[in-house]
Amino acid sequence: MLTKVQSKQVLETLGAMYPDAYCELNHENPFELTIAVLLSAQCTDETVNKVTASLFQKYKKPEDYLSVPLEELEQDIRRIGLFRTKAKNIQALCRILLEKYGGELPQKHEQLVELPGVGRKTANVVVSNAFGVPAIAVDTHVERVSKRLGFAKETDTVLEVEKRLMKAVPKEDWTQTHHRLIFFGRYHCKAQNPNCTVCPLTEVCREYKRRMKPPRKRKDKV
Ligand code: SF4
Repeated sequence: MLTKVQSKQVLETLGAMYPDAYCELNHENPFELTIAVLLSAQCTDETVNKVTASLFQKYKKPEDYLSVPLEELEQDIRRIGLFRTKAKNIQALCRILLEKYGGELPQKHEQLVELPGVGRKTANVVVSNAFGVPAIAVDTHVERVSKRLGFAKETDTVLEVEKRLMKAVPKEDWTQTHHRLIFFGRYHCKAQNPNCTVCPLTEVCREYKRRMKPPRKRKDKV
């Protein structure tokens, strides 16, 4: 695991690499952001942005999503994985927003996670990006990079990774660090081919040490 000094160094390096990292899901308000994050499960931000470009033209408010049959909404998001489940969740979510919250998105984390299709990660993204509440959402990039670098243990659950990051990163930097870890994982420390040869973090990286270890010599039988 990283020491305090090492954590600080890594965070400074990430800050220098990606000073302006941001949420790459296109949206204009908290409601659109929630729909976009819900759609992004097991799907790239790029594909979600292609779909939401027309989706957000057609559906602007919760009422709009409920004004069409489920099958029509499914067709509108069919390019996205798990589109049937997601369409169902979107309509159920919109129904709750209208019945319980006057058509507005609630701002509290505990209210958001009660909505269909909204888990802890989505709620963290929404509160931090839309409502300015510091949070670290752990997606696949954040989890992988945190484990490779030593912010977290290999065996940690997603929630454990989040807790370790919250301890290692000053609260005022949680949201920005979340974006930087995503950029680092998406564009540099990729899942399959991380750019280790030009990485400024080889000194502390656990994964680098593992990759560079010479293979153990086999003992010849006598
Ligand atoms: Fe990722 Fe390689 Fe850098 Fe480690 S050395 S953080 S595995 S790119």
